[in-house]
Amino acid sequence: MKMNLYDALKKFFGFNQFKGLQEDVVKSILDDQNTFVIMPTGGGKSLCYQLPALMKEGTAIVVSPLIALMKNQVDAIRGISETHGIAHVLNSSLNKSEINQVMSDISSGVTKLLYVAPESLIKEEYVDFLKQQNISFVAIDEAHCISEWGHDFRPEYRNLRNIIKQIDNVPVIGLTATATEKVQEDILKTLGMTDANVFKASFNRPNLFYEVRPKTKEVEKDIIRFIKQREGQSGIIYCLSRKKVEEIAQVLQVNGINALPYHAGFDAKTRAKHQDMFLMEDCDVVVATIAFGMGIDKPDVRYVIHHDIPKSLESYYQETGRAGRDGGEGHCLTFYAYKDIEKLEKFMANKPVAEQEVGHALLQEVVGYAETSMNRRKYILHYFGEEFDEVNGEGADMDDNMRNPKKKHEAKEEVAIILKIVTETNEMYKAKEIVNTLIGKENALLKSHKTTEQPFFGIGKSKTSSYWMALIRQILVADLIRKEIEQYGVIKITKVGEAFLKEPQSFMMTEDHQYSSDDDASIIT
Ligand code: ADP
Repeated sequence: MKMNLYDALKKFFGFNQFKGLQEDVVKSILDDQNTFVIMPTGGGKSLCYQLPALMKEGTAIVVSPLIALMKNQVDAIRGISETHGIAHVLNSSLNKSEINQVMSDISSGVTKLLYVAPESLIKEEYVDFLKQQNISFVAIDEAHCISEWGHDFRPEYRNLRNIIKQIDNVPVIGLTATATEKVQEDILKTLGMTDANVFKASFNRPNLFYEVRPKTKEVEKDIIRFIKQREGQSGIIYCLSRKKVEEIAQVLQVNGINALPYHAGFDAKTRAKHQDMFLMEDCDVVVATIAFGMGIDKPDVRYVIHHDIPKSLESYYQETGRAGRDGGEGHCLTFYAYKDIEKLEKFMANKPVAEQEVGHALLQEVVGYAETSMNRRKYILHYFGEEFDEVNGEGADMDDNMRNPKKKHEAKEEVAIILKIVTETNEMYKAKEIVNTLIGKENALLKSHKTTEQPFFGIGKSKTSSYWMALIRQILVADLIRKEIEQYGVIKITKVGEAFLKEPQSFMMTEDHQYSSDDDASIIT
């Protein structure tokens, strides 16, 4: 007899209720449907495939990029069953006899979950073996790794569709915590599952407070003051380089703060020790590179500080998302200087041109977020394709801009000018060129299209380029225009924008923060 869904949930996980969309996802998988799950970190993605795997006949293959994470998950699954072979990891660290054991457990139907790294799954001997087994479905965790538009592109993921086809034509489940519309499309296409049932949870984290401060020479003092006001609370500080991690950790220690460094340059033992000390509350603050965090489930992290701004809003969302997982307040404090953006640009300089373009487009979003005076939550959620009501939405007042709002002014006519330029130049320019057109700054591209000869060329030169860029960002979030990501950010007008042009409405603009002393250089690069 088939087990009831709730009985299984209780039996295997000890929970009485599903969280969010879990029940619908599980049903979709039990129904053998291709399924795509987009849930923020902490949303409960693992259960979405673990429960159906435990309930279905055969073995579910789980593809995951992180060996350490896989091991944690396997241990957790083994903890809920007396059958040791119920979950296995297949990777290069296993010896021959261990591999034989895994294979024999799969063949005899004992193994319900088989975790593999994508590079292992490609191996012919494994593919040949798995072809002959009863596979229930393939779950692809961190599915955004398949997309160049994600923040963590891994080329091995691109081969997964082929391998899955070879193994068996089983349902595929993609899961990710970071899907902008572009990444989402990419995942569905590349995995050949455009027919999938899509489940998308809200990305709003109402208990997180977002704050951006200018990064000055006093940044270390600012950080120390911030931490001292929160004595005994847990926090993470992210830095770009290992060197900075060590420097900051030392500065904090000298100032009597219980901090430890963490980056991939330490040996595994030191890393594990520092991580455990943080989890066990033997250390308050971890100063880390992005190597720290994946799979760390410490519920009461009260703040995440970015000493250096990350390279995409996805990374920012992921990293800040580690605060307040218990639902209590999480303060996300970012120190921003445009200089840091230039540094990140420089890192990309040796990459292939297409990758640089993507990287540049992602960075521009980060700049926009940092410099905006809008509701920051609305900005982030817009990036993830989600609408947010900045008056009544949950957590609407939880950011620096909302607590200390800047003055607004009527910008109806200026908005109309931008929209007019977008349409009259046949929607072929990126924001940068539109701004240059407004302020009358010539370049080869504008000349070649004769935009420089148009009556509107230079029409907005009484305002700065930063001013116009700010307004463009605001009308972007207000959906009057949209960015064509495939064309690296070409601006198109939307239906709402067309309606506005016909009958302009009031548009209240807030001016962006000016973090840079060099006004014009801050955006137009
Ligand atoms: P994600 O992979 O989306 O980041 P996890 O699968 O790690 O999230 O789950 C986050 C937390 O939520 C875990 O501690 C997990 O035990 C818990 N959790 C998942 N599903 C439920 C549920 N139905 N009821 C209660 N807690 C749950």
